[in-house]
Amino acid sequence: MKKKKYGKIFIIPTPIGNIYDITYRSIQVLKKIDYIAAENYKKIKKILNKFNISKPIISFNQHNEFNKIQKIFNKIEKKKNIALVSDAGTPTINDPGFCLIRECHQKKIKVIPLPGACSAITALSASGIPSNKFCFEGFLPSKEIKRKKILNLLKYEPRTIIFYETPHRIINSLQNIVEILGKKRKITLAKELTKSWESIIFDTAENILYKYKNNKLICKGEIVLILSGYKNLEKKIISKKVKYILSILKKFLPKNKISVIISKMYNIKKQYIYKYLVNKTKK
Ligand code: SAM
Repeated sequence: MKKKKYGKIFIIPTPIGNIYDITYRSIQVLKKIDYIAAENYKKIKKILNKFNISKPIISFNQHNEFNKIQKIFNKIEKKKNIALVSDAGTPTINDPGFCLIRECHQKKIKVIPLPGACSAITALSASGIPSNKFCFEGFLPSKEIKRKKILNLLKYEPRTIIFYETPHRIINSLQNIVEILGKKRKITLAKELTKSWESIIFDTAENILYKYKNNKLICKGEIVLILSGYKNLEKKIISKKVKYILSILKKFLPKNKISVIISKMYNIKKQYIYKYLVNKTKK
């Protein structure tokens, strides 16, 4: 039996500030597709006008996402190609679209993601905080109780942490970060990226909070927070009993051997034990 031929869906990142931050390939694809499913009509229109593109636009946002999925599938079934764009940056990254993409996979519709602007990754690249391992947490909750709960869960997270933030919540969030993750926690605050007034500040949580509270930083503009991960995880994970055993073993055995033995006995990553022993020797 001949396989049914459908249209495709292209995920197209759009600029997060500077209108030229759209790739050449994205422009080419936008010129070729049949419809654009867009979160923000005005914003995509501005981009289309800038690059002399004219295409029909289907409104696709968090309020109508479920109703519009079928409309989009009807077009794809008629072999029409669709571009998915969000308000700014990469669609589906804290933006609508993931349900649509999941259903595309279920229906065996080809999904073609294009690389491009994403504020989280742009901020991370300029953060000066380790970027080989990180976790993306999206927005912290607006309610303080929930926000504190999330921060408590992240207290001992060793990887770099990325948050999106809003200007009206930044002081409260920083306050909670200082209280729960500690005042010395290193933060890169990336504001209004790619715009001519972009600012990137690298400091401790308490200093950034101080600057906001004393009006040295303006509570306006879009923000990404990059937080350094928890540093002394090995200290936290290794119990008093194990620490005692390590203090004895280190007199008789090399660190790598101790790490392997204790790792097997207590089911702790050997790297943590090794790091703990190295730090202990330094002191
Ligand atoms: N999908 C988008 C992306 O790839 O960047 C993110 C969408 S999320 C709804 C919007 C949040 O992204 C903002 O509240 C802010 O935290 C962050 N953001 C977007 N543009 C930014 C910019 N130019 N500078 C800093 N943060 C930005």
